[in-house]
Amino acid sequence: MIIGSHVNFGSEQLLGSAKQAVSFGANTFMFYTGAPQNTIRKDIKDDLTDEAIKYMKENNIDINNVICHAPYIINLANKEKEDSWNFSISFLKNEINRITKMGINYIVVHPGNALKIDRMEALNNIAEAINNIITTETMPMILLETMAGKGTECGINIYEINEILNKVNLKEKVGVCLDTCHLNDSGIDISKFDEYLNEFDEKIGIEKIKCVHVNDSKNEIGTHKDRHANLGYGTIGFENLINVIYNARLKNVPKILETPWIGEYPPYKIEIDMIKSKKFNPNLEEEVNKLYE
Ligand code: FE
Ligand code: FE
Ligand code: ZN
Repeated sequence: MIIGSHVNFGSEQLLGSAKQAVSFGANTFMFYTGAPQNTIRKDIKDDLTDEAIKYMKENNIDINNVICHAPYIINLANKEKEDSWNFSISFLKNEINRITKMGINYIVVHPGNALKIDRMEALNNIAEAINNIITTETMPMILLETMAGKGTECGINIYEINEILNKVNLKEKVGVCLDTCHLNDSGIDISKFDEYLNEFDEKIGIEKIKCVHVNDSKNEIGTHKDRHANLGYGTIGFENLINVIYNARLKNVPKILETPWIGEYPPYKIEIDMIKSKKFNPNLEEEVNKLYE
């Protein structure tokens, strides 16, 4: 099983992220190269990357399973303001260069928000942006994340993801990241996850799935909300999430937790324990507090 969580990318950069992942009992992780909600980025320090690579080898983390997430504020779907669309494209290009330097293979991107334009046009814009970003030289893969359908989000069902993928030129460089909370909120019943995978396989191909965000949801199926809950503390439920994590067809796909913190503390060590033992822990809050106090 390849399991990890969202981790910080602080002053120690990739080394700090890897150390945090190990402290959670994880064998992979996902990071933003700066704050998720802005595009201020510091230079990547090669000495820290070298140390991180050594540390990961010693601690059973395969860098091939490590994921970067692009900030949410970039929007590839709408080019009414040409400047901001171009900024999103150049930012993503830079981000891809930064992670290439670190040897990271995947960057998860939210497809974008249509805002006031037609959804089909928005899907075209996303593909066009990707075609501007990726060249035959590009090493990392862009992973389009399946979205909940909050506001005018794009990529909210298999059809829309497929529309984007079909319009991308270098298809081998674009994949998909499933998010269980987003799927639930977009209208997919996670208790019938295998049916979803069948449809995904038929229309897109299951090999395109390169990452799964494992989150419970605070809202009912189809509410288009996108509010994550801790494993077993939401409407999807622990058993259904365990079945996604242990699904044989996604065995080699990294699973990443993006569940909410308990106050100031990350819940991931306790949640990863739950996953490894396949046993729900009804005292998550207490145990997280005990661990960090
Ligand atoms: Fe995301
Ligand atoms: Fe996600
Ligand atoms: Zn989300």
